[in-house]
Amino acid sequence: MIGKVYIVGAGPGDPDLLTIKAVKAIKKADVILYDRLINSEILSYAKKNCEMIYVGKADGKHTMEQDKINALLYFYSKKYPNVVRLKGGDPFVFGRGGEEAIYLAERDVPFEIIPGITSSISAPAYSGIPVTHRGVAASFAVITGHEAPNKKKSVDWESLKGIDTLVFLMGVTNRQEIAKKLIEIGRNPDEPVAFIEKGTTNEHKVIESTLKEVSQNPPEVTPPAVFIIGEVVKLRNKIKWFEKDEIPINYLV
Ligand code: SAH
Repeated sequence: MIGKVYIVGAGPGDPDLLTIKAVKAIKKADVILYDRLINSEILSYAKKNCEMIYVGKADGKHTMEQDKINALLYFYSKKYPNVVRLKGGDPFVFGRGGEEAIYLAERDVPFEIIPGITSSISAPAYSGIPVTHRGVAASFAVITGHEAPNKKKSVDWESLKGIDTLVFLMGVTNRQEIAKKLIEIGRNPDEPVAFIEKGTTNEHKVIESTLKEVSQNPPEVTPPAVFIIGEVVKLRNKIKWFEKDEIPINYLV
C-alpha cells in the first residue's frame, strides 16, 4: 500500500474558516493525526470509521515528539490510502509542516499540502486590525516569540526596526522580553500593541496595551494568543466587528 498524506491547515479556530479542499481531505481520510486547538466540529466531517489520533502540541512543548509524529505518518501511509495530518492555522507557518513533508519526500511517500488560514492574519482581522493599511503600514512580519533552545536560526532583531507591523506567535511567555528588545532596537515605546487570545473562536479576547507597558508591567495573557505591534492596532477603534457582533459568526448559514 502506498497511501497519500495530506498535510492540512485547519485554520485558526472558527470552523467555518476551513477551506473546501481541507473539508474534502478530511471527508475521505482513513486516519487523522491532529493537533491541539483543532475544533471538534472540524473533526466531525470525518467518516464514522476514521481513526483519530491526537498528537497535540502545546506552545512549543510537544505531547508527542516530532520524530514520532513523522514515523506515524509513514506507518499510516503504508496502512491506509488517505492519511490526513491536521494542523492549526497554516501548516507552513510555525507548524513544522515542512519537516513532515521532507521526511515523507525522503521516503518516497506521496503527499499534498493544503494551506490553511493562519492565526497571524486572521486573529487580527477578527479584531478589526488589518496587518497592512494604506498610509499606515506598508509591511508586516510574522515572527516566533519562542526561539528553540538549540536554535539554528535566530531572529534578527535589528531587522524588525523597519517593518511596520510585527506579529509574534508563541510570544505570550516572552512578551516582556520581546517588548524590551523592540524598544532597545529603537521602536517607539508608545506604539500600540494587542494580544488576541483564542482568535476567531467564541472565546476571542483582545487585550490592548503599549510596548512600554508590556516592557514594564505586562498584562495577563492566556495562550494561545497573537501578539501584534504597530499603528494598525489603532484602526480597531473603527473596524472592530466580531466582538460586537450580535450573531456569532459560527452560526452563519
Ligand atoms: N500554524 C499556526 C501557528 C502555529 S504556532 C498558524 O498558522 O496559525 C502556535 C501559535 O499560533 C500560538 O502560540 C499562538 O501564538 C498562535 N495561534 C494559533 N491559533 C491561535 C488563535 N486561534 N488565536 C490566537 N493565537 C493563535
